[in-house]
Amino acid sequence: DAFPLDEIDGNYVHTVKRCVFSESPPTPLKGPLKLAAVSEEVLESILDLDVSASLYEDFVLYLSGSKLFPGSVPLAHRYGGHQFGYWAGQLGDGRAHLLGEYTSRKGETWELQLKGSGKTPYSRSGDGRAVVRSSVREFLCSEAMHHLGVPTSRAASLVLSEEPVLRDQFYNGSIKKERGAVVLRLAKSWFRIGSLEILTKSGELDLLRKILDFVIEEHFTSITKNDPDKYVAFFSTVLNETAHMIAQWMSVGFAHGVGNTDNFSLLSITIDYGPFGFMEAYNPNFVPNSSDDEERYSIGAQANVGLFNLEKLLEALYPVLNPSQQSWAKHVLKGYPQIYQKRFQELFIAKLGLEEQDESDDGYLIAFLLKMMEDTRADFTMTFRQLSEVSALQLQSGSIPKEMWALQDLSMHEFFSEWVNMYLPRLQRAYQSDEARQHRMKGINPRYVLRNWMAESAIRKAENDDFSEVRLLQEVLARPYTEQARAEERHYASRPPRWAQGLRVSCSS
Ligand code: AMP
Ligand code: MG
Ligand code: MG
Repeated sequence: DAFPLDEIDGNYVHTVKRCVFSESPPTPLKGPLKLAAVSEEVLESILDLDVSASLYEDFVLYLSGSKLFPGSVPLAHRYGGHQFGYWAGQLGDGRAHLLGEYTSRKGETWELQLKGSGKTPYSRSGDGRAVVRSSVREFLCSEAMHHLGVPTSRAASLVLSEEPVLRDQFYNGSIKKERGAVVLRLAKSWFRIGSLEILTKSGELDLLRKILDFVIEEHFTSITKNDPDKYVAFFSTVLNETAHMIAQWMSVGFAHGVGNTDNFSLLSITIDYGPFGFMEAYNPNFVPNSSDDEERYSIGAQANVGLFNLEKLLEALYPVLNPSQQSWAKHVLKGYPQIYQKRFQELFIAKLGLEEQDESDDGYLIAFLLKMMEDTRADFTMTFRQLSEVSALQLQSGSIPKEMWALQDLSMHEFFSEWVNMYLPRLQRAYQSDEARQHRMKGINPRYVLRNWMAESAIRKAENDDFSEVRLLQEVLARPYTEQARAEERHYASRPPRWAQGLRVSCSS
């Protein structure tokens, strides 16, 4: 409490200076605590634990912050950020605690962080908690993204408590009593663009250099320590990888929802899952966050959001670059749209089962298909999946089987056969057999993504302590490319139920 308090819009902010972390212990949640789910893969292959560890009574206490691992000194990270286009000043881990890092038997080092584990010096007017619905969503989606091959933070466990947590219900303005939950999440690093921005904004340039040197040495091993241009090389790497991450989001129809600079990782992994969404009917204006009135973070705007955030990263780096490095870095920034376009095209050409060929032809083939999807509102995920499952013959004759519902929607387009006539000859040139083509495409185009209605259905049960659907979804989403036989799994690849259309996700979490 020795820190000065600034009032910003009625929210009191501890202005923390000259540090990157504040020591801050988690506040245990009111019990009894329930271990709703664990990620077996994270426990076994990252934390070197046997899943049977989860049978120990104490385990849940460690996973929720009631007990600390030996040697752990919990920290809250100080960062700032641009929120919805504007500098928001100091933000920081308001409800997350970094427990420390763990080097696995494989030799990988991971940072363990609890989310929803209580107040920190960065909580502002928040309560430091996370509710069940947002925790289930982060737990399921971060693991699902990993299995889709998208760079992301991981989730080890999901713990539910009996602690009452009050949240605004945005759709009707009332306040509801929900329950607190904690996710143990892991990343190679939790540093964000906002981690650097705050240091520049407050003129703490020595600390800025120190953090940069640390991040480069730990995580950017291709950049040498004594390279005089290492900060430009760092910027260039982040730019490349961010373009790649966003292109990957697009290739699976993922909209992050809150692309603020404090939610953009310096390692270009997907972090801070909030009101994200997977697009169903194809629509570039899809906005997953119902509180995003200006539609700043629509799915189609994400490439530009990346550019904006990289501009902010460059602004943060400016004071540690000399004039010639500054113009070099600006030149690097100018290359972003091209790098992104190239990544996007590579991924979508692969989704069509093809290898890149003539660039103009490739771009046209993709854009034509996406335009037809937009016109017919065909389901994004299942159109690509069913293109992988349909036979060339069926495609050629236009006799799409009824169960291929998304492709049927698409085939209603007036130019569908025109597009097929462009596409099929390229497939025929590329493959010996149609089976080989289908096999390859099925390994690229997922059948299962975490649609809002699926998460919602699992959440409704979890809120009543029934974790069966959370676990079922975990299993299904761990094998997104495999056609799964059980009826309840097949259901996740069928046309979204009617009630899914009215679902809204807000920032309240
Ligand atoms: P987000 O947009 O969810 O990534 O969060 C933006 C900022 O608000 C971060 O500094 C969070 O730590 C903080 N925050 C969000 N929810 C809470 C809460 N319930 N209590 C304290 N801080 C919060
Ligand atoms: Mg580290
Ligand atoms: Mg955040």
